[in-house]
Amino acid sequence: MALARIPAHDPNHPLDVPAFAAGIAGTVIRPEDAAYETARRVHNLGTDRHPSLIVRAASAADVSRTVVFARDAGLELAVRGGSHSLAGHGTSEGGVVLDLSAMKGLHIDPERRLAWAQAGLTAGEYTAAAAAHGLATPFGDTGSVGISGLTLGGGIGWLVRKYGLAIDALVSVEMVTADGRLIVASEKEHSDLFWAVRGGGGNFGVVTRFQFRLYPVGMVLGGALFMPPTREVLQSLEPIAASAPEGLTTIAALMAAPPAPFIPAELHGQPTLAIMFVFDGDPAAGQAALEPFRQVATPMAELVMPMPYPGIYEMLKDAETPMLATHRSLFLDALDDAAVDTILEFTTAPDAPMAMVQLRILGGAMTRVPAEATAFAHRDAAVMAIILTPIMDPSDAPRLQAWTQAFYEALRPGARGVYANFLEDEGEDRIREAYPDATYRRLAQVKRRYDPANLFHLNQNIRPATEV
Ligand SMILES: Cc1cc2nc3c(=O)[nH]c(=O)nc-3n(C[C@H](O)[C@H](O)[C@H](O)COP(=O)(O)OP(=O)(O)OC[C@H]3O[C@@H](n4cnc5c(N)ncnc54)[C@H](O)[C@@H]3O)c2cc1C
Repeated sequence: MALARIPAHDPNHPLDVPAFAAGIAGTVIRPEDAAYETARRVHNLGTDRHPSLIVRAASAADVSRTVVFARDAGLELAVRGGSHSLAGHGTSEGGVVLDLSAMKGLHIDPERRLAWAQAGLTAGEYTAAAAAHGLATPFGDTGSVGISGLTLGGGIGWLVRKYGLAIDALVSVEMVTADGRLIVASEKEHSDLFWAVRGGGGNFGVVTRFQFRLYPVGMVLGGALFMPPTREVLQSLEPIAASAPEGLTTIAALMAAPPAPFIPAELHGQPTLAIMFVFDGDPAAGQAALEPFRQVATPMAELVMPMPYPGIYEMLKDAETPMLATHRSLFLDALDDAAVDTILEFTTAPDAPMAMVQLRILGGAMTRVPAEATAFAHRDAAVMAIILTPIMDPSDAPRLQAWTQAFYEALRPGARGVYANFLEDEGEDRIREAYPDATYRRLAQVKRRYDPANLFHLNQNIRPATEV
């Protein structure tokens, strides 16, 4: 069998891809394979790269072999779970993609309320399986997002006020480090690494399995109030949502009303503030928690109903379609009058693009974990804002990117950092904003210890600390 030659450090030692592939229990996909075109794609449609190899791992042993292979070959290594990186980090031009999406093992121990979840599961898959036991782990707002990337960045979702971040439910991880070893990191073992992977992203190795705590979450009250997008409504959002019982988590989106059957036809496409929510608790208490919003203004439409917790992912499934878009995000100290004015000024300008502005009112359980306990440290941020501007026509991208950037800069005076998982490729300064200085320095030390050569660099990259 002929050797496939792919670029390596040492041209005198061509890589024996067939031998490598023969040792992989999963699938190795090469550019000439029929599956390649689909397999190389990621959720971010603006990312169009051609890796030399895609390894769809079936086991931790496959992960270890692939890490060692890429390292020894001097090939760039991209790691992906659910492929939803906003920056398109789950692929590489000419490198090796380590795709974990086939690793979907999940063991739930309902008695001990613990789950062992392989890295290829999506939030929706895990949540549906846990719901069969009346249990849940907090992930994000969208079912198709991978538990891997989401958890490693922090994980902010529908239960954040009641149960905190995804990392707050994390008990341990099994991971392959840059030297190919499979180790366990927890509060007791490799505790520095366990601290770092709770917010520091994929910088430190490849997690093959997560161990999570589960919480009792059965039926919830879920849905959305479609509010008129007035100044008064926007100004009241934070005071009401932040003082609501912690069972209520809201994610509000300033957007065009969708053509949904429960929205009157004449309102389709009209601007609205969709206050989407989950209330985990007694439905009557949930209705009571929503009442203050209704008192500010009569909703244009609403959909409020008891549902099994995974129902919220079902409800938002249509929003999952991959699209070309540009994003800017930031944490805010408050959704104060200045921020509201900026949002209204940008979104109501006659030439404003059809952007969506998401406003998440945080607080509750996520604030009760000390900031230094995990690498995700912006725990007292009151609000997370995300500007998402769809790009329908690629030739319009420069204008839309400039508009989105200007909007974000206008909000910046009230900013307190950014969430690493909502960064595109925005440069070193923005990565620094994701971490307070002391956190960043500590991350850089852990990086030096576990990945001194920066093998894992296709991420919001933490540079290994240099010797002093
Ligand atoms: C539609 C949409 C909705 C979102 N909603 C939320 C939300 O509500 N809350 C929230 O917190 N975030 C949200 N995000 C952001 C999301 O958390 C990040 O994009 C996250 O990185 C996606 O994880 P993934 O596994 O799907 O992506 P991938 O692209 O597969 O992974 C992202 C990066 O994580 C690293 N990585 C992935 N898997 C592993 C692993 N097993 N071991 C080591 N490193 C790994 C790699 O560096 C990789 O480049 C959303 C994103 C999208 C596109």
